[in-house]
Amino acid sequence: MPLKLEGHHARKRFGQNFLNDRHWIGRIIDSIDPRPGEALVEIGPGQAALTKEVIGRAGHETAVEIDRDLAAWLRGLFTEAELTLIEADALALDWRSIFPGRKLRIFGNLPYNISSPILFALAAVADRVEDQHFMLQREVVERMVCPPGSRTYGRLSAMLQRSYRMEKLFDVPPGAFTPSPKVTSSVVRMVPLARKPGVDDELYAEVVAAAFGMRRKTLRNALSKLLSVEQIELAGIDPGARAETLSVGQFEALAAALGRARA
Ligand code: SAM
Repeated sequence: MPLKLEGHHARKRFGQNFLNDRHWIGRIIDSIDPRPGEALVEIGPGQAALTKEVIGRAGHETAVEIDRDLAAWLRGLFTEAELTLIEADALALDWRSIFPGRKLRIFGNLPYNISSPILFALAAVADRVEDQHFMLQREVVERMVCPPGSRTYGRLSAMLQRSYRMEKLFDVPPGAFTPSPKVTSSVVRMVPLARKPGVDDELYAEVVAAAFGMRRKTLRNALSKLLSVEQIELAGIDPGARAETLSVGQFEALAAALGRARA
């Protein structure tokens, strides 16, 4: 089997930008620090830049790849003892069926066109995850990790900060990939947090979406279809505040108020 898939043209619809720089591959692998016996799961192995190194260190990984040609090539490159390949759309996968009863270590250089939906889908199974290491557009990573009150704090920040402790590790330049993306990338580490009990996930998501749906409006206006001014005040939140200043704890208080209002 060739070390690269000859004649494979990168498919834009699958967000294919292949890592081809040993320095950056090494830094990502050192950050993941894969060990034998761990439940390692890669999203989008592509031409195996990370896959080879992870299997070299840990002996085995499971990978989810949507591209049929790449999946066939990967099956020829590794033995079944080394790679469990799931040819599927990571967005449609039943994540709970992988390594049942084990905590997953998920990683990947994600297809940038669907990175937010993948992050949201994984947040729903965060209780099954030990940690996640992803390469994403730098701008997305900045939105994930920024604190309330900063310019980039938005729906993605409030949704993911409820479920994970997140840390941006380092930037990766466009030249590390073939073809080169137009933007700089960053690697982020995500470690699931114990969520506050008694707050419904759907109500939390609904309040956050409504609050940021009308970004420049005060909560009084943005949440007018969900909560009265009195209910917002009773939750301990200033109805004159704007969504981008609210912490996860404050959104949780609003979600609890919405639960009471609908009870
Ligand atoms: N890991 C490789 C690397 O670092 O060079 C490839 C990264 S490339 C940015 C994204 C990979 O995800 C491609 O292999 C692509 O085919 C795959 N992919 C795209 N959409 C996917 C999906 N919905 N489910 C699973 N894999 C997907």
